[in-house]
Amino acid sequence: MTTTPGNTEAIDADPFVAAFPENREFWLAAGEGRLLIRTCDDCKRAHWYPRAVCPLCGSDRLSWSPASGRGKLYAFSTARRTEPQTTLAYVTLDEGPTMMSNIVDAVPETLRIGQTVVVRFLPSAEGRMMPFFAPLADG
Ligand SMILES: [Zn+2]
Repeated sequence: MTTTPGNTEAIDADPFVAAFPENREFWLAAGEGRLLIRTCDDCKRAHWYPRAVCPLCGSDRLSWSPASGRGKLYAFSTARRTEPQTTLAYVTLDEGPTMMSNIVDAVPETLRIGQTVVVRFLPSAEGRMMPFFAPLADG
């Protein structure tokens, strides 16, 4: 894995990352626009959120693996009284796990269950790059 020194320094200075060092690799990749998911070396299945033990088979032999960054909109809810409006969603990744995130760059009224969405990394309030999802242009 290649990382730039700037990314590494910012990640290591982040108290949230420091509190959960087992997820440092995830945040380093996120800073580079890559989505990683925790995958079990024994049952070969991916899960979300990252855990120390596979929730599907109980193994503690886990690795980070690259995700496609594509998924399907499983459920969503738009908070219309916030400014800007925000859409909380569950996205089922192509690799199987369903993750909670927010939908960005979309008109909420045009969203539909099952449509294809793609990951888009945007900075959180703390500056950490976070995975959000946006509709696939032709999805
Ligand atoms: Zn497993």
